Amino acid sequence: MSLELQVCTVMLVVIAHGFVLGVEWFARHRSVKPVFSVPEPPGQRAREIRNSWLTTPIHAALFFTLAVSGALHTAPETASVAVGTFLLTFLWTEVWHYASHVAMHTKALHFIHKEHHRSRVTDPWTSVSFSLLEKLIFSLGILGFLALASRWCELSLFGIFAYYVLYFFTNALGHANFEFRKPGYYTRFMGRVFNSPTYHTLHHARYIKNYGLMTPWLDRLFSTEWPDVPEVQTRAASGAPLTRLTERVARDTTRIQVVKVPAR
Ligand SMILES: [Zn+2]
Ligand SMILES: [Zn+2]
Repeated sequence: MSLELQVCTVMLVVIAHGFVLGVEWFARHRSVKPVFSVPEPPGQRAREIRNSWLTTPIHAALFFTLAVSGALHTAPETASVAVGTFLLTFLWTEVWHYASHVAMHTKALHFIHKEHHRSRVTDPWTSVSFSLLEKLIFSLGILGFLALASRWCELSLFGIFAYYVLYFFTNALGHANFEFRKPGYYTRFMGRVFNSPTYHTLHHARYIKNYGLMTPWLDRLFSTEWPDVPEVQTRAASGAPLTRLTERVARDTTRIQVVKVPAR
């Protein structure tokens, strides 16, 4: 058992809580732009914290078990293998998350996902509040695929670890109920490729659509994206949060035109 594997596993156990606490501290001590100005029901944060102790070590436990048993075979580390592994993990997780998430919104499988959806107004702790079964299915889908892939191609321990670090960080931000991107984000290149916190916040508030994780590609392909995401993002980022969970924003009515006035 390598020292690298032990260090990565320990970091995966603690890092999600580190990001959650960091994002929560930022939201409380900095002037942030909420997506919804709706109070959380009493007891939500305490429930999410309770769930987190049970579910956050799942990724680390599976990562360690598959690696130490040899089921997930990793190659000697090189920069190209690490980058390739990171990209493969990123792309596969987008597909796996979308497919499993849509499946868990069906009546038959909703019992797996309903604990996560008890939080309609999200906060950073929502990002670590799941049923044990949901976290197990999500992580097994990622690491099981990588274990299979490792039979045919070289994979990097650090590439997988780096992906999980990105996942925990963006997931804490994605549930933080504040928008840190500038108004009009979805009209720019980055906004066409990557989601901002508004995206998943709307999924919790409205329960359906916006199933994607870090990107909107699959929601666009299967027409499951809320059409007013750009308008809600612009409103939130402009300091005018939505005041009801059921509120919709008409298209083109709130877009902010950023006009540069030429210097005289
Ligand atoms: Zn959902
Ligand atoms: Zn969520």
